[in-house]
Parts: sequence; C-alpha cells; structure tokens
Amino acid sequence: MTDWEKSAWRAKPRVQMPDYTDPAALAEVEAQLGKYPPLVFAGEAIRLKEELGKASRGEAFLLQGGDCAESFADFSADGIRDTFKVMLQMAMVLTFGAKVPVVKVGRMAGQFAKPRSAPTETVDGVELPSYRGDIINELDFTSQARIPDPRKMLAAYTQSAATLNLLRAFSTGGLADVHQVHQWTLDFTESDEAEKYRAMAERIQDSLDFMKSAGVTADRMHTLQTVDFYTSHESLLLEYEEALTRLDATTGKTVAGSGHMLWIGDRTRQPDGAHVEFLRGVINPIGLKCGPTTTAEDLKVLMNKLNPENEAGRLTLIARFGAGKVGDHLPRLIETVKSEGANVVWSCDPMHGNTIKSASGYKTRPFDSVLKEVQDFFGVHQSEGTIPGGVHFEMTGTDVTECTGGVRAVTDEDLSDRYHTACDPRLNASQSLELAFLVAEELSS
Ligand code: PEP
Ligand code: MN
Repeated sequence: MTDWEKSAWRAKPRVQMPDYTDPAALAEVEAQLGKYPPLVFAGEAIRLKEELGKASRGEAFLLQGGDCAESFADFSADGIRDTFKVMLQMAMVLTFGAKVPVVKVGRMAGQFAKPRSAPTETVDGVELPSYRGDIINELDFTSQARIPDPRKMLAAYTQSAATLNLLRAFSTGGLADVHQVHQWTLDFTESDEAEKYRAMAERIQDSLDFMKSAGVTADRMHTLQTVDFYTSHESLLLEYEEALTRLDATTGKTVAGSGHMLWIGDRTRQPDGAHVEFLRGVINPIGLKCGPTTTAEDLKVLMNKLNPENEAGRLTLIARFGAGKVGDHLPRLIETVKSEGANVVWSCDPMHGNTIKSASGYKTRPFDSVLKEVQDFFGVHQSEGTIPGGVHFEMTGTDVTECTGGVRAVTDEDLSDRYHTACDPRLNASQSLELAFLVAEELSS
C-alpha cells in the first residue's frame, strides 16, 4: 500500500492504549522487538486468507477460539495442549456433521492486551487504573501492579513464541493425526456430548480401517495426519504490533508478524482512529467486531478502508450483539454488505454480548444465551440468503466453571469452584463440545 506507513497510526486518535510513563524504556523495547524474528510469515497469512475466502463462499467454516486473555501465570504446555485438543474435537464434529473443511484459528500466542469498559476500578473506596492484560500491567490490586510496563511486551513475545512452537509441533507431529481421534477426548469430559463424540470417533475409525484394508497407504493419508492451525489476537497494543511488522521479501508486502489473523475490537473501530489506520496497511486477514452500536455508515467506510480491493477472505465481520438482539442488528448490517457488494466472512461471537453478573457476584455467561445467539445468527442468515461463515468463542480445554449451564450444568453456586479467568468467562471443554454439535446441526440443516 503506497499511502501507508506502519507508524502512521501514531498521528491518529487512540483509545484503550496505555500511557507509558518511561519513554526511554518503551523505545528500548520497541527497538529490541524490531530485531526479533516475526512469529508468523507472509505465506502463512496469505494461505489463511485463501481459506477464509472459501469460508466467505460457504466452502469452508471458520472456528476461532481460545482464552479471553492469555496470562503469564497460567501459561503451561498442558493448558495449550488441552485447548488445542478441544478445538480439534470441535473441528471434527463440524467437519463430520456439516461436511465442510474447518479453518482452525486460536485466540492464542498473542492474545494479551484487553480493552476495558472503564479506565479505573474502585474497590473499598480505593481507585486504581484498570488491569489491561499481562502485556501491559498486572492484575494485583496495588498501584505498583497497575503501572503499564513496556518490558512486559518482551515477556508476551517470548510466551507467544513458545506457544506457537508447541502449536506447530502439535499440528504436524502426530497429535493432530486423525488416527488419534479418540485421544483428543479429555478425561473429565464425561457427558452425553462426550458419548456422542465417542460414537462419531468410532465411525471415523471404521472409515480409516476401511481405507487401510482397501489399500490406501500411509503416504496417501498424509493430509489426514496434519492440520493447519493459525493464531489470532486483538490488535490493540499498537507499539507491539508495529515493532513486529515486517516487509516480506518474497511478496514485497507488509505483514503483521505477531499473529496470522488480527482483529479490531468493538471499542477501537473508530473509522479515523489509530487501530483502523494500522490494520488497513498489513496484508493479514482482518477481523472486525460488529456490535449494537455499529452503524451502517461506519461499516461502509470501514469495509472500504480495510478491504479496498474487496478481496475474499481479507475481512471477517464478527457479529456480537447479544441473545435476543441479533434480529435488531444483523439484518441491517447484512443489507449494507449486500448493497456494497462486499466480500466478507460472517462470523458469530455469542460471548461478548451475553456477559452478566451472577447472583454470587461473578462475571458469567449463561450457556442458554450463548446458544440462542448462535441459533439467531443462523436463522437470520437463512432468511437473508447469506452465508454463516464461522464462529468465535472464548473457551478453554481446562475444566473451569466460568459460564453457567450446559449439559453438565454449572450453577451459580459452582462458579466459585474453578473460576480462573483474569478477564471474561470462558466455555469449558464440555460446553465447547456441546456448542460444536449444535453448530454442526445448524450447518447441516
Ligand atoms: C474480546 O474479544 O475479548 C473483546 C473484548 O471483544 P469485543 O471487542 O467484541 O468487546
Ligand atoms: Mn473477552
């Protein structure tokens, strides 16, 4: 892009970003990150864009999921493995039930910076700056912990690199081999869904046995032995994003090296703001959260800025309206997309419009609301004759109790048992699987 520079966002109004108090330390970190290897490469981002192009036409389906916010304290190989396994299970349910290839994108290896609803938080009369994610400050409620520290960007980079390294190994090193379809089940997921999954895995195993006895040899099975697994995060902390941006020697294009797909949050999508300015110039696939306050006019301007060449797979519109509100908003935005003739992937985030405070005081999401938003999303696309191209979940392979409901019902009283999120409540493994079966049903009906 000729009229764009990676630092041009600095001249635009910015929101939701920290004011660093030590400019020398910030500059040092930026210089250091600028020399580090990018985490992802242009060819991979381009391949994901092609896959998403298929999703925009109904030839594939996007499954995007992971933590609301990754954390330094909860970082573990087992945690990454379990979330990866649940996503493979969900993808298998979708592929098997809906007969479409699934594009797998983790909210992982870079999902550290968080937009907040208020700049400060008051507890027992003490007011402190809000926690903004481990890449910026700390969760502890002390004034020291809440000071934004640029050096945390280096720790986030290191954790992202290690996460991506493991994900790449899992994707090609045997764990993702479809012959392991039984091994993806996690020990604690005893439920009807787990039973349904086991029955499906049996049928897959039978098909594989059949292919083997029919003479399909191991080298011909290669595509069943590995998966493509991509990473994504909200592109919020622009100093970090800019420092990892690279000019790709092969294509001559600029790529954001921090993750394959980057999205713009509901709070940072101002058409003339810093976040839109930064992302319009990189070649990665871009997500754009669309909420109840997204106007048709803004969407039109944003689509033109972010995807001027109307490339399929470049732009994913992630709808997050809340259960019961999809009918009020999605049709008008679909109308805008239709009238512009824009190529987009329509994805459904049934999490962010459904956050409530439980009677026990925890921030939670009722599983029924999550489910209803997904059903409404599919219903609207059905009546509009448009394509539901994907889903976007906050989920984890860990057996947490953060969202209420589901077949292994989590009650209000249960929330305190294993409530581990530093930010928004996530679906646990069994709730995630349940949702995947529901989406597969919607897709095949
Ligand atoms: C998120 O995806 O974690 C998030 C903050 O979403 P939104 O911008 O849609 O509120
Ligand atoms: Mn969130």
